Amino acid sequence: MLKGVTLAAWLVLVCLGPLALIAIGGWGMERPAPWLVVLGLAGIAGSLVMAWMSMRTGRWLEQTPDAAGQAQRLQQETEPLRHQLRAAEQRLREVIDAVPAGVAIYDNQDRLLAFNQEVARQYPYSSGQAVIGETYETLMRRELAEGRIADAVGREEEWLALRLAGRGALDTPMLRQSDDGHWVHFYEIRTPSGYLVMSRLDMTPMVEKGLALERANEQLLRLSTTDGLTGIANRRMFDQTLQTEWQRCARSRASLSLLMIDIDHFKHYNEHYGHQTGDECLRQVARILVMCAKRSGELVARHGGEEYAILLPGTDLQEAMAIAQRCLQQVHAARIPHEDSPVDPSLTVSIGVASMVASPRESRSTLLLQADSALYCAKKAGRNRVESYDPATVSALASRPAPL
Ligand code: GH3
Ligand code: MG
Ligand code: MG
Repeated sequence: MLKGVTLAAWLVLVCLGPLALIAIGGWGMERPAPWLVVLGLAGIAGSLVMAWMSMRTGRWLEQTPDAAGQAQRLQQETEPLRHQLRAAEQRLREVIDAVPAGVAIYDNQDRLLAFNQEVARQYPYSSGQAVIGETYETLMRRELAEGRIADAVGREEEWLALRLAGRGALDTPMLRQSDDGHWVHFYEIRTPSGYLVMSRLDMTPMVEKGLALERANEQLLRLSTTDGLTGIANRRMFDQTLQTEWQRCARSRASLSLLMIDIDHFKHYNEHYGHQTGDECLRQVARILVMCAKRSGELVARHGGEEYAILLPGTDLQEAMAIAQRCLQQVHAARIPHEDSPVDPSLTVSIGVASMVASPRESRSTLLLQADSALYCAKKAGRNRVESYDPATVSALASRPAPL
C-alpha cells in the first residue's frame, strides 16, 4: 500500500517533469510563446508539489498501520487491563470457593455470572460452565421440566411466578428441609448495584446434632419428672404441679382437691410375695389409678413408697369423694391376691381426701396436711376406705386405738 502510493506520486512527477522541460526548452526559441513558459513553470511547480505531497503521504502512510496492525497495537495496549481482569476473576473465584456455602451470583438482568464449587457439589446436574449467562428463569424452567423441585410438581407455573416475584427478598436467612432430607440455610439478597447473591449452606450435621440434643433434653426432662418404677409422675412433678395449680385456682377462686392413696399392709405383701412382685403390684395399682383420673389437668403421681397422690384442679369435695370411691373399687376389683392382709384376701387401699378453695392467703401445704390427716383417719378407721378431711373426725379418730 505504502509503496503503491509513493510510486504513483513519483510517476506523476515523472510525467510533469518532461512537460516542464519542454516548456523551458521553448525558452530557447526566438520568441517563446508565453503559454509555453507558463506551462513549463507550472510543470516544475506541479512536480515539486507532487514530490512534496508524495513524500508527505508516504511518510503518513508509513506512520499509519493497517487494521491488523491497529488491532495488534490495541491488543498490546489492553493486555495489562485484561491481565488485571483475569486476576480479579481469579481472586473472586478463590474467595467464593473458600466459602463453605454454595454461592451463585446473578447480574441485574438475572443472568448467572458465577457460582462456586460448593454449588457444583450440591447441584451436580447443573455444574457445567455452559449455564453461565443463562437467566435464573431459564435455569428454573429446566429444573421444573425435569421434576427436580418436588414441592412445585403439578403447579410449576405458579411456583415459578412466586419464586421470580420473591427474587432477592430472602434477606433473612431461612432454614428449610430440602427434598432429599438435607437441612439448608437459604439466603438471597440483592446488592446495591443490582447483583443478586444466593447462598445455600448445608446445615444438616448441625441441625441433626441440635435435634439429638433436643431429644436428649426431652428425655432428661421426662426422667426428672417421671417415676422410674411405675412410669407415672414422680414426687418432683407432683410438687411443681401442686404449686402451679394452687396459684391458678387461687386466681379464679376455684376448688382444688387432693387424694392421698396408700396400699394397705404392703409390708406384708412384700414379705409374702417378694420385692419384685411388690414392684409389679405398685405398677398395677398405678395403672388402675391413672384410669380413674383421666380428665385434663388431673395428675396421678407416686408420692413415695406405696403411696400415691391424685391432684384434681377445679374439683370440689363431693366430686373428689366420688373419684376416690372409684379408685377404691377399681383396686379391689382388680383382685390382686394379698393372702397376708388382715383386711381382705385381695389388695386394698386407704384414701384420704381434702378439698379447698385455693387462696393466695393460704398455703398449698395445708391441702397436703389435710389429705394426709384424712388418710390417717382412713387407716385408723380400719383401712380399705375413703375418708375426707374433717377436723372433728380427725381429733375423734386420733384418740381411738388403731386397728390391726
Ligand atoms: P399400712 O397399711 O399402715 O400402710 O402398712 P404398710 O405395710 O403398707 O406400710 P409400711 O409403711 O409399714 O410399709 C410400706 C412398705 O412399702 C415398706 C416398703 O418395703 C414397701 N416399699 C416401699 N417402696 C417400695 C418399692 O419401691 N418396691 C417394693 N416392692 N416395696 C416398696
Ligand atoms: Mg401402706
Ligand atoms: Mg405408706
